[in-house]
Amino acid sequence: MTCKEAERLVMPYIKDELTDEELGEFLTHMESCTECREELEIYFTVDVGIRQLDSETGNYNIKGTLEAAIEQSRQRLQLVRCIKIARYAVSTVSIMALVITILLQCRIWIQWGLL
Ligand SMILES: [Zn+2]
Repeated sequence: MTCKEAERLVMPYIKDELTDEELGEFLTHMESCTECREELEIYFTVDVGIRQLDSETGNYNIKGTLEAAIEQSRQRLQLVRCIKIARYAVSTVSIMALVITILLQCRIWIQWGLL
């Protein structure tokens, strides 16, 4: 992902509108690129600041809030990855079960002299 693409995704990220794929690339870019990371921090700070003015929660640990948001995004991605792996495992197991069933059926047919 280029800096231009990452910049374009800053606002969608804050609004939580990124797809899982975009989110993964976005977070990777933020880890490796301090310029974009600073940009994200600025936008995030403004966004959180406005929301806090609205709600008057008095929580001014904005940097910590961004860390928490990124951590949450990472966890979401991990969960998505786990689900994908689980799905893959389930489909692999079902294919194996099907193959074993066919092999056993063939053995029965062979025993009966049908093959
Ligand atoms: Zn960048």
